[in-house]
Amino acid sequence: MTRAALLAHRSGSSARVVLARGPHPGLHWGEGYGLPGDALHRSDTHAPRRERRVGPVGELDREHTSHVTALRAFFVATGVLLADGASALSPDELGSLQEAFASDVARGATRFAELGLVWATDRVERLTLRRPRGDVLREEVIVCTLELGREEADRAQAEDATRYLARWAKGAIALADFVPALLRRAAAAQLDHAALDADDPHEPAPGVRMLPVRSPTLPPAAHTNMFLVGGRTAVLVEPATPFEDELDRICEWVEEVEAHGTVVLAICATHHHPDHIGGAVALQRRLGLPLWGHAKTAEALVGEVEFDDLLEDGQHIELALDEEGETMTLECVHTPGHAHGHLCFYEPSSRALIAGDMIAGVGSILVEKHDGDMALYLASLERMKALGAACLLPAHGGVIVDPSACLDHYVAHRLAREEKVAAALATLGEGSPVDLVPSAYADTPRMLWPLAARALEAHLIHLHALGRAVDLGDGRYATTATTAAGPKRP
Ligand SMILES: [Zn+2]
Repeated sequence: MTRAALLAHRSGSSARVVLARGPHPGLHWGEGYGLPGDALHRSDTHAPRRERRVGPVGELDREHTSHVTALRAFFVATGVLLADGASALSPDELGSLQEAFASDVARGATRFAELGLVWATDRVERLTLRRPRGDVLREEVIVCTLELGREEADRAQAEDATRYLARWAKGAIALADFVPALLRRAAAAQLDHAALDADDPHEPAPGVRMLPVRSPTLPPAAHTNMFLVGGRTAVLVEPATPFEDELDRICEWVEEVEAHGTVVLAICATHHHPDHIGGAVALQRRLGLPLWGHAKTAEALVGEVEFDDLLEDGQHIELALDEEGETMTLECVHTPGHAHGHLCFYEPSSRALIAGDMIAGVGSILVEKHDGDMALYLASLERMKALGAACLLPAHGGVIVDPSACLDHYVAHRLAREEKVAAALATLGEGSPVDLVPSAYADTPRMLWPLAARALEAHLIHLHALGRAVDLGDGRYATTATTAAGPKRP
């Protein structure tokens, strides 16, 4: 799928850009500030055009369409309509057209044609930018730039690229995907094809580069985000993939940053699951780097993976950012619950929290008896919340920019599920996880019930610890509730 996005800027000493707050309807850019953009819509192809230019038809059509998409998304995001005939519209007509495009592209396109408007596609310059390779949302994004007049830029609330970057560096705002790289180029007035064609890794926070790699993970996710954190010295987090082609790509990535003067100190593991540790041995060998992780992670992998050093809760990994002695710190936060040795990594200056498998941008987190513990998991979520992070960087899925709402939601979701488990147990009187799943997970697709039964058991163990269930010792539990609804939580 092709998508178009617009980076508006003015030429001159300082570049002002227009960013829109997500989530973007047509762009999987997470929840941070991104470029106004949308997926190409069928009606964009048929939008009225000024004149037929000479050239290969397919290519020109594609260019025209992406320009229209970008101008349309810009209009929806800012209310600034760049079209011939726009100045003749009343504020009411303009407002209702904006609303029409926002709610239904086809309806907006019909209204646009009725008003006799023609998109000012000549004001757009097209620059193609590919997403970082290996991204799950691997799609071509056509980035367009636009020269705005001062008055238009004011109306569109254009801001200095450097100001956005400064707010991002303090953790005050989250920037989507490749936006930080684009802003740096805008700030340096280097927005041209050559610069934009570079295969930038996603930089979700200053000094934190992210590379999603294909991994043996649970569907619907198919990848794990790896991170390279630091500047002059750095660590690689999540040695996630055992796949040879992906390992090649990681090694190329590391070699490239090393060629630019970065010294990678070590590989850090969040926990022992195969989609997080599957590449550890190969990367230790191929990159000659030591592997660090929590003692309980090392314990779970005895005989399979050898750790060179252990990381403890509260430990600081100091990293040099530049030659001038600026540093950044990565704090190890022990967060058991999904896995006993689970570590998150917190960077206090940008307040970015590498969250591993504690939360997920896609799919959900499995807490089960063997590796996990529901009471510990809930306590770890509360601890993560107390850090006051500005963004969460999960192992699967995109950046989460409202950590406290996300973590509250996770806790509430688990407790609501636990009430369903308690109610199912109260209804049946006693039963095994498999007996209880149809009722407690009635809202979950049947194909996921085997997994659900494992999660359900973790809830039963938690209910037992709370005195709300009795462990019958044969894999079955009995209710302690005296009414069908069960006792109220204190
Ligand atoms: Zn895991």
